[in-house]
Amino acid sequence: MEDFYFIKADKPMWPASANVFVIKDEEGLIFIDVGCGLKKFTKKLFKKLRDFNLDLFDVHTIALSHAHPDHMGAMEEILKLFKDNNNSDLQILINEIERESALNIDLLNDSFDIDLLPKYFNSGLEERFKGKFDLIQNFKVLCSMSQLPKDCNIEIIKENDILKLGRYNFKVLITPGHAPGHTSFYEINQKFLLSGDLIGEKGTAWYSPSSGGATGYLSSLEKVEKFPIELIYPSHGNKIENIQQRIHEIRQKILMKDDLILKELKKKPHTVMELTNLFYKTSYSQMFPGIAIIESHLIKLEQEGKIKRDNGLIYKV
Ligand SMILES: [Zn+2]
Repeated sequence: MEDFYFIKADKPMWPASANVFVIKDEEGLIFIDVGCGLKKFTKKLFKKLRDFNLDLFDVHTIALSHAHPDHMGAMEEILKLFKDNNNSDLQILINEIERESALNIDLLNDSFDIDLLPKYFNSGLEERFKGKFDLIQNFKVLCSMSQLPKDCNIEIIKENDILKLGRYNFKVLITPGHAPGHTSFYEINQKFLLSGDLIGEKGTAWYSPSSGGATGYLSSLEKVEKFPIELIYPSHGNKIENIQQRIHEIRQKILMKDDLILKELKKKPHTVMELTNLFYKTSYSQMFPGIAIIESHLIKLEQEGKIKRDNGLIYKV
């Protein structure tokens, strides 16, 4: 792919940095996501640029798929380097919904539905999570928790916008489920998709009710599937060529949870915690992302009229 550079992270699954994409145009360079910002990865990112004979200070635009720290953790360092270099006209392209969290990273506690913890974990919260569970504190070891400064140069991108980035024309697709304003970029001429976390090389991304949940995730898969995609560059893992099979696998993985929940509820009513325990075995995975994923399935099944809740218990209808 001409004038397109794929800087792959070391590991295909979280916790790891997201991949970074670089596009060259007449004015310089464009980043799509910037990675997790941990020294190790940022060093690798800068080295890769040098290997490709690209200069960081030629970057004039950064498009962000969503405001999660593995995708935008390096923003703080990059903005600082640009400021020190007296180069401050960096343009940031982001969807309106994601902009809010990008400017105030504490808002991730909302889109990750952290308030489900005190709601459902009456007891049994690990010592380190007692009191307010603060996701930001927990993620600090995994990523740099950058947020964008209020005065940065943000341009809002919207559903169906066509972004001309160098020789490429990307259609902006808002694909919630994993993040409320999660954005995928579909190149309309060469028919490739930068899928963000919607479609990764392996597994599924986690999802939470306030980020779109299971329902949002499935609709987003349906949305991208309508395009004749020939190749996917995901944010985690290697490029994907077997598009339909991969989308099918993800969809099945999500739907299987619905089925398993209904199967358990057929035996007897359960609490949210009991259902979460069935799928997630460690206390950490129950707290994050287990409970948010299960809750999003319960909301979906409730809307479909397949279950009902009564007094803390969930019944199969
Ligand atoms: Zn993410």
